[in-house]
Amino acid sequence: MAINDPADKEALLENDRKYVWHHMTPHNDNPMIVASGDGSWVTDVDGNRYLDGMSGLWCVNVGHGRKEIAEAAAQQMMTLAYATMVQAHIPSIELAAKLNAWLEGEYRIFFSNSGSDANEVAFKIARQYFHQKGKPAKHKFISRHRAYHGNSMGALGATGQAQRKLKYEPLGVGFSHVAPPYCYRCPFGQTKDNCSLQCAEAIEQAIAWEGPDSVAGVILEPVITGGGMLVPHEGYLPAVARICEKYDVLLIVDEVICGFGRSGRKFGHHNYGVKPDIVTMAKGLTSAYSPLSATAVSAELYEVFKSGGDTSHFRHVNTFGGNPVSCAVALANLRVLEDEGLIARSAVIGEAFAARLARLREHPNVGDMRIFGSAMGIELVEDRDTKEPAKPERVAAIVAACKSKGLLIGKNGDTVPGFANILTLSPPLSSTDDDVDFIVK
Ligand code: PLP
Repeated sequence: MAINDPADKEALLENDRKYVWHHMTPHNDNPMIVASGDGSWVTDVDGNRYLDGMSGLWCVNVGHGRKEIAEAAAQQMMTLAYATMVQAHIPSIELAAKLNAWLEGEYRIFFSNSGSDANEVAFKIARQYFHQKGKPAKHKFISRHRAYHGNSMGALGATGQAQRKLKYEPLGVGFSHVAPPYCYRCPFGQTKDNCSLQCAEAIEQAIAWEGPDSVAGVILEPVITGGGMLVPHEGYLPAVARICEKYDVLLIVDEVICGFGRSGRKFGHHNYGVKPDIVTMAKGLTSAYSPLSATAVSAELYEVFKSGGDTSHFRHVNTFGGNPVSCAVALANLRVLEDEGLIARSAVIGEAFAARLARLREHPNVGDMRIFGSAMGIELVEDRDTKEPAKPERVAAIVAACKSKGLLIGKNGDTVPGFANILTLSPPLSSTDDDVDFIVK
């Protein structure tokens, strides 16, 4: 089909309406049909170009149209398209070693397909770990309201966004939630200047109230991204890490979005100097060129599985996890990130947003602007004094106006449950100066 052929577009749309069930949108949608991508830009079937300001779903970190990644995939498909992870294969071994270097620690890597899978694996490993340590009652997880950790029953149980969970409950059991580190609307009534990290204390309190003997882990993103770009006080993550250590609770860091350079460092937690017990990752691992996720488990935890005898192995398998083609794609993707200095570039993009969009902070409908690496959230309000969240029509109008000018942005957050009043931007880390100019304008 030729691009710009409206007749074909109508046929496509008809079949789309008839056969395709879209993710997360109402059924009467008239979707943009994306036909191709190059760098930070995508082109629809009408030939309209858009700057992909959200890197798809926060995932195309190296940008679109990377021939070197396509070639790595083709080469691997022709060499070995599939082997199980019960066996071993070369791309998974190379990738696990590479991830250890990126993580700056000693981790065993368990491969799966998606971010949700990676978190499910983390929960199961945490529970089995405590079983094998003779503490089987330690099975609960503490998470935060506003967090998103995936769509499956356990990962959605860990998620702290009520509207996503309604109609599917009961979900995986054993998850409880505390208030997030949301400095603009501090749930504890504090300000940045008088912050005593009560949001971290809330985690300690939850562990105490649940009973430390029953809590296996705390799961968190370094910065809550999809829940509205909630950048915590710099002392928050180190405080949570100390609390976890004090109560023999595992620190599980979800790097599905924050990882692979988005934060301006290799992983989001590197900005806070903590050493997680488990790190989960997906999206930027392959820049979404192929599905792959990973759960990195500290060598210390792994040892408990390895040394426990014949029945102590982890009884979990998935058919596609660690697929050789996806691993080869991930290796090629990490090479691009390294060779082109895209992690440092991510920080530069965020600094450009901070400097060049600074005057937005004075706008009567901008309550707050939050930047972490190259990801940004702009919290819209009706009134800066009352902080009343901007009405959905106003937010939708801005997203539509950006699209009409050729910029795709997101809206996230859950300030009032189910009500997204935070504009989000998370462009490819390969975005050029011209791309950044375009976004700023
Ligand atoms: N964790 C975080 C922080 C996410 O943002 C997401 C997806 O957006 C997930 C987990 C789930 O990843 P996936 O959609 O690949 O299952």
